[in-house]
Amino acid sequence: MKDLAYYNGNIAPIDEMMVPMNDRVCYFGDGVYEATMVNNHKIFALKEHLERLYNSAGLIGIAIPYTKDELADILNNLVQKVDSPEQMLYWQVTRGTAPRNHIYPSKDVKANLWVTIKPMKLKDPKKMLHVTDMEDTRFLHCNIKTLNLLVNCMAAQKAEEQGCDECVFHRGEIVTEGAHSNISILKDGVFITHPTDHYILPGITRMHMIQICKEQGIPVDETPFTMKELMEADEIFVSSATQLCRRVESLNGISIGGKDPERAELIQDCYMEKFLNETR
Ligand code: PLP
Repeated sequence: MKDLAYYNGNIAPIDEMMVPMNDRVCYFGDGVYEATMVNNHKIFALKEHLERLYNSAGLIGIAIPYTKDELADILNNLVQKVDSPEQMLYWQVTRGTAPRNHIYPSKDVKANLWVTIKPMKLKDPKKMLHVTDMEDTRFLHCNIKTLNLLVNCMAAQKAEEQGCDECVFHRGEIVTEGAHSNISILKDGVFITHPTDHYILPGITRMHMIQICKEQGIPVDETPFTMKELMEADEIFVSSATQLCRRVESLNGISIGGKDPERAELIQDCYMEKFLNETR
């Protein structure tokens, strides 16, 4: 298949898949999701993404009707069905199908599993990014990877309209994360990134970058940093599963970063090696 949609066991090309209107995701965004890249028909970091999915689901009381191994088997089988060996795998679990009502449906209503798979090459990790910024007006459950993404969409749209690649959220002066990424910096040889509290999504890519820094002897400081510190950082990273970790060269048209390219590229190169090794 060129691309694939899956809904509770039904498989079709994405444009042809029909889903019930009463899936609670339509009314409330009531569900959780994950996305990662596939190379050589192998799913990168599946275990970590499944861990986070079950954690997000648990935090909002959604019972996923499969074990992690069963869900891994479903996903591993589906990625074999798409022709391109390089894919973007997206999946979401929604609270189920029931007439619109804020109150959750009864426990016998089963959660729905949605999957889409599209051919996609990994974005050029060495491309330098331009970013803009926006006050982070989201709720206080940003650690849950829920489908309630309206403010993230507003931020991504702002970036698009400014000709930028990403929008940096900040609460007052404190940088939280990007519209669809985590933001980290290098300063004086230290990798600094927001701690994993309710203000940010605990990014899998961020977690891997921390592991890489530790392996490479780069100190890690999980402490919030300010917009001023971001402007004055030696390097700024935007990280997410679909782009791995890329460096930033401007914020609102002002040049930033670019002052510690060797250390930044070491992290990027180790990340690429990890990605290629695990999807060989
Ligand atoms: N933060 C937000 C709001 C995101 O949407 C994403 C990815 O989609 C990330 C961070 C990065 O997470 P990951 O590295 O797991 O893709």
